[in-house]
Amino acid sequence: MRVVYVDNNATTMVPPEVFEAMKPFLQDQYGNPSSMHAFGGKIHKNIDSARESVADLLGVSDPREIIFTSCGTESDNTAIMSTLRSYPDKKHIITTKVEHPAVLNLCKYLETTGYRVTYLNVDNEGMMDLSELKSSIDEDTALISIMYANNETGVIFPVEEIAEIARTRKVVVHIDAVQAVGKIPFKLTKLPVDLLSLSGHKLHAPKGVGALYVRKGTRFTPFLIGGHQEHSRRGGTENIASIVGLGAACRLAGKSIEEEKVRIKNLRDKLENTLLQDVPRARLNGNKENRLPNTSNIGFEFIEGEAILLMLDEKGIAASSGSACTSGSLSPSHVLRAMGIPFTFVQGSIRFSLSRYNNESDINYIIKHLPPVIERLRGISPYRAS
Ligand code: PLP
Repeated sequence: MRVVYVDNNATTMVPPEVFEAMKPFLQDQYGNPSSMHAFGGKIHKNIDSARESVADLLGVSDPREIIFTSCGTESDNTAIMSTLRSYPDKKHIITTKVEHPAVLNLCKYLETTGYRVTYLNVDNEGMMDLSELKSSIDEDTALISIMYANNETGVIFPVEEIAEIARTRKVVVHIDAVQAVGKIPFKLTKLPVDLLSLSGHKLHAPKGVGALYVRKGTRFTPFLIGGHQEHSRRGGTENIASIVGLGAACRLAGKSIEEEKVRIKNLRDKLENTLLQDVPRARLNGNKENRLPNTSNIGFEFIEGEAILLMLDEKGIAASSGSACTSGSLSPSHVLRAMGIPFTFVQGSIRFSLSRYNNESDINYIIKHLPPVIERLRGISPYRAS
């Protein structure tokens, strides 16, 4: 059966170029880069060159500002915990209501240990209010941790302004850019943040590798305490193959990011506009303009997202729902709830997230198969409008 994969905000495929770059380090080049002997030690240069490739994509002039981690979650946790440990007298954190659990759940945990957390609101298009950010900062604020782009809706936050506010008020700022890196071009020369997280598997590198950018001069306390790896900022023998894969993925992304963001946006818009036009009682979740080019989150009223996903799955279409199924009960998306999306739409929200490996034929396939699925489900929905 044909597979149309449009769940790239969940994870992405490893293309052959990335896999080929990794292969030697999964086979014969298995030495430990910290070893005295050349068999291991020579591998260090491959880590250095991967670090340069990540730095290049982010517009970072000194690659030593990049620390390799195991995933986006570790990068986020490191950024937050490092800052809090570096400023032990400050007990206030500012974040938003729509962050990924990697930030949100850590903040909730920190509240149980004596920290105060401000969760900024978003409007019904998922946009935040900078004046609320400004008025939330006080003498006790240790950190502002805000995402670049939302994983569910693709909505992009005004990170330049956030960085500027943080700098003016002398507060450390961390940006979770896990969904932005590789999808939209940006350079840290023009974005004066202190810390920034990314995750390999969201940009066609393998799972199990991430990176944290730490601007020179930022106070840093390691999160994983161990050996001297990563200039003593992250203990643990390096995951060489995946680090090399991340370097290769960054080089590939950098080559085509400008053209691909236009091509992918055109495909996304065709999908979105056709569905919104052809399917009654469907709405877009998130600001139409200020969004990642690959993401579309559409709510279909009066049906369950999970039912839509199961029926799409039968057609080989892999998408994702806006709500997560936890311990047997349907818990609606915290992002869509924070946006105040009516409950009847939240439950039936589907996220389509494209990549540079999608083409027009994928979009035509979804456009052909999705409307009849919605019609069938509406026919049997107990909640349908009279
Ligand atoms: N932050 C955002 C915005 C994400 O979308 C994700 C993953 O979906 C993460 C952090 C966590 O990344 P990882 O899966 O690499 O731990």
